[in-house]
Amino acid sequence: MSPICCVVPEYILRAVVEKGEAPEHIISACQSTIDNTRRLQDARIQHGQSIVSAQQQQTAQAAGAVRHLKRTIYNAQNSWDSDDLPRDKVMIKEGGVLISKEEDSSQDANECYVGFKKTYDFYFEFFKRDSVNGRGLKLDGFVHYGQRYANAFWDGREMIFGDGDGHIFNGFTDELDVIAHELTHGVVQYTSPLEYKFQSGALNESIADVFGIMVKQWGTDPEHPQTVDQASWLIGEGIWAKNIKGKALRDMKNPGTAYDDATVGKDPQPAHWNDFKKLELSD
Ligand SMILES: [Zn+2]
Repeated sequence: MSPICCVVPEYILRAVVEKGEAPEHIISACQSTIDNTRRLQDARIQHGQSIVSAQQQQTAQAAGAVRHLKRTIYNAQNSWDSDDLPRDKVMIKEGGVLISKEEDSSQDANECYVGFKKTYDFYFEFFKRDSVNGRGLKLDGFVHYGQRYANAFWDGREMIFGDGDGHIFNGFTDELDVIAHELTHGVVQYTSPLEYKFQSGALNESIADVFGIMVKQWGTDPEHPQTVDQASWLIGEGIWAKNIKGKALRDMKNPGTAYDDATVGKDPQPAHWNDFKKLELSD
């Protein structure tokens, strides 16, 4: 079984549970995020077959590709059911107006809608790629998934965002690199489906991080994109709530320095080949 990538790696959530420093309801939110994420792993496998057949049909993308940007943002209404997410509450669809703060004070739907377009535009502008699958796959996003769900992920056919727990994690829709990272997992699936474990899994993650940060460097202000030197190279900058001592989930410039906090532990990313980690399968 190949795990799905989530924005928040399981080792962070497990650290919160094991350290026991956070309030009880936050620890239980982290535990339920772990449990539900594992359950969601099935979803990606179910979608695997259709992805393979789509790959077989896929034609090489070339200059002259036509844009088919089609976004729909739904309110998951705190449902935990990833197999049958409610689609009756559309918050924004392509060409529609952004929602007001009165309709939803979180603004998650707007951020998701905008983040989808910036990611789509990046891939189209620089790679002439028409959406995640290169064939205009519609981009569906679900906000308000689960209860205090402290994660966000691409499940193989759509993007799903939890609200965060409010104590450790802020929301997940306001970071462009986070959205682009997850959509890039979709691109990887449709191009070179690197198995999500060990070194192929590390490559899968790295590609998602690299494209995620490139989308941010360009998409934040496409008229004045950041240069390599100007960019922070921080993945998930601003994702931590104010209680946590950290600047991001990962620091690509200085791996291993993204956070260091009693509640969530220290960033374990190795910065040098000397620190190569031989991973073992977890249960
Ligand atoms: Zn990932």
